[in-house]
Amino acid sequence: MASPLPPRASLSPAPHVRLSRATVPAGHRRDIAHVLIPEKRIQRRVDELAAAVSADYRGKELVMVALLNGTVAFLADLMRRMEFPLTLDLMGVSSYRSGTSSGELTYTKRLKLDVRGRHVLVIDDILDTGKTLTAVTQELNSLGAATLRTCVLLDKPTSRPTGGFEADYVGFVVPHLFVVGYGLDYAEKYRNLPFVGVLKREVYAPDAAK
Ligand code: 5GP
Ligand code: MG
Repeated sequence: MASPLPPRASLSPAPHVRLSRATVPAGHRRDIAHVLIPEKRIQRRVDELAAAVSADYRGKELVMVALLNGTVAFLADLMRRMEFPLTLDLMGVSSYRSGTSSGELTYTKRLKLDVRGRHVLVIDDILDTGKTLTAVTQELNSLGAATLRTCVLLDKPTSRPTGGFEADYVGFVVPHLFVVGYGLDYAEKYRNLPFVGVLKREVYAPDAAK
């Protein structure tokens, strides 16, 4: 039986971000209207998240379960800052979104590891309505995880009613905008931006701009 987890280590409250004044890098100016979180600010916050998660899980058998595909950048940065042995598995979850609104949830890749009796930390890119993490944490509980916590880079609380799903470790609280970059996509593009930004309206609503 896995030993219990200590209370969460102190992590400063997730800052509320607004559109930054940072200029959009030239190569991305055609499609990106604004930078929301510049690269350096993301990296500083990932340091803080990794320190808190490490303090809580160092010396424990941690299984990190990251949700594909939006976590690719966040996961790569976060896990390399955790200086102790951990186990990684990936789960593919797709919300059949044809654009920018949530749809039905389907699993495109199931877990490979047995999480029974293990300490599981679920990593996701953004917590929006909470549908994804509600379903995924139910699934992991039914698979017998001993403890379960969640870590998200971004939280968009305006999409949820009070008392809705809350993550245990949160990077930034973002306004009610559709964001891309640092792993997050629009139609599978823009995951490679090193910052989090906001698309120009004409990219997702080409007719509205005319
Ligand atoms: P939820 O199930 O909490 O509504 O949504 C979570 C998933 O929806 C995220 O993992 C992400 O894939 C997607 N999502 C929600 N908001 C955004 C957003 O602003 N931008 C992008 N690119 N994806 C989002
Ligand atoms: Mg996602």
